[in-house]
Amino acid sequence: MRYTWVVDSHVGMVRSENEDAFFPEADDAADGPVAIAVADGMGGAAAGEVASRLAIDASTGDEAKDDDALERVQRANRAVVEAALAEPAHTGMGTTLTLGIFDADGLLHIGHVGDSRAYLVRAGELRRLTRDDTVVEELVVAGLLSEDEARIHPRRHLITQSLGMQDITIQLIEEQLGDGDRVLLCSDGLTSMIDDEAIRTVMVHAETPADAAWLLIDAANAAGGHDNTTVAVVDIAP
Ligand code: MN
Repeated sequence: MRYTWVVDSHVGMVRSENEDAFFPEADDAADGPVAIAVADGMGGAAAGEVASRLAIDASTGDEAKDDDALERVQRANRAVVEAALAEPAHTGMGTTLTLGIFDADGLLHIGHVGDSRAYLVRAGELRRLTRDDTVVEELVVAGLLSEDEARIHPRRHLITQSLGMQDITIQLIEEQLGDGDRVLLCSDGLTSMIDDEAIRTVMVHAETPADAAWLLIDAANAAGGHDNTTVAVVDIAP
């Protein structure tokens, strides 16, 4: 399979720092395997930026190149835990990580912790591949809240799991991709500002991954841009 990707990040309209991190740095195209990842850090005094950078570097660096998705997320978690223990200013820092390994045969392996997301667009339909590790997602799953209610819930940012915790449960998802599929990895700066229908419209109608990425960030900022927004858009072709 041939993967063409664009990754963009924007600080948003309110915050002064961008605590999201992503990989790869450069937009490009390649046959698989390709690793693409988004992380959203949290913690005071710039620790969020440290945590997301550590998670991205540990899970996509050279030492991880033979690892599967699970081992890469475990590696990222160890890096954040160890750095937090080593530096008092970094105590309590954490980060989400949504990592996709796009294999040569079109199989996508996702390792995921937190409230960043992965979506698949196929034949005009948008499907979320990850579950948020949040209190409100648990309420949605239990049928007590709708997706729309969850998106504006005052406690939507309360996450139940992040890298940096000693004990985490990593979501692993596999999806066979095909010609014409388009995949989105994104931080919650996108999904807390615009709903799935708005995301679907952009993902379906944008001509290129670059157009889609720019339109999504523009939409999040037009809706208020309350958070850093990071998007990775990946097109799949034979
Ligand atoms: Mn965020």
